[in-house]
Amino acid sequence: MVSSRRSGGGARASLGSGAAGCGATRGRAPLVPSTPTEWKKSPDMAYDLLVRNGRLIDGTGGPAREGDVAIQDGRIVAVGRVDGPARREIDADGRAVMPGFVDVHTHYDGQATWDPDLAPSVYHGVTTAVMGNCGVGFAPVRPGQEGFLIELMEGVEDIPGTTLHEGIDWSWESFPEYLEALEGRRFTMDLGTQVPHGSIRAYVMGVAGSLRAPRSPIT
Ligand SMILES: [Zn+2]
Repeated sequence: MVSSRRSGGGARASLGSGAAGCGATRGRAPLVPSTPTEWKKSPDMAYDLLVRNGRLIDGTGGPAREGDVAIQDGRIVAVGRVDGPARREIDADGRAVMPGFVDVHTHYDGQATWDPDLAPSVYHGVTTAVMGNCGVGFAPVRPGQEGFLIELMEGVEDIPGTTLHEGIDWSWESFPEYLEALEGRRFTMDLGTQVPHGSIRAYVMGVAGSLRAPRSPIT
């Protein structure tokens, strides 16, 4: 991901593939060699993409360094000082080049049902987002409880209820149906979701679930 810039599909797919290594690979070997030795190209062969003159931060915890990143067939094949040619080049001078970020705490549960961009996270370099946090979300939903779940999200996360009322089409009831609705969409990044406990509680207990009602005896 080249920061401060919305990367093209190739750059995002390639550099973003290291997303899991952001932080997680601290102390391990770099994801790619620091010099372009592993992959040999013939002189007349062009890289698919060459990101030049970036400030490389590879996610290993090592210091940043100036350099280029070459991508071929969707994979990073060379890092360091890389000679072209390339079918496409990005001048990353003055910018940081790094694996995509994994944002494990988001609330895109509603927005993901209408917004393929998942903005603004995409502008921040996020390549994987996890939602369903803090117990709030929109599945499962019992017919008639939609407004309650929106109020819960609005109250906990300050996401405007008007926007959620306008945007969500409620084409699901169960959590698997919600996943199916998401599955049919395309996004700028990978998306995962937890099962929100507030939605389950409302589905099982109804309004009593938010009124501190005593639990039913276990039989
Ligand atoms: Zn939260």
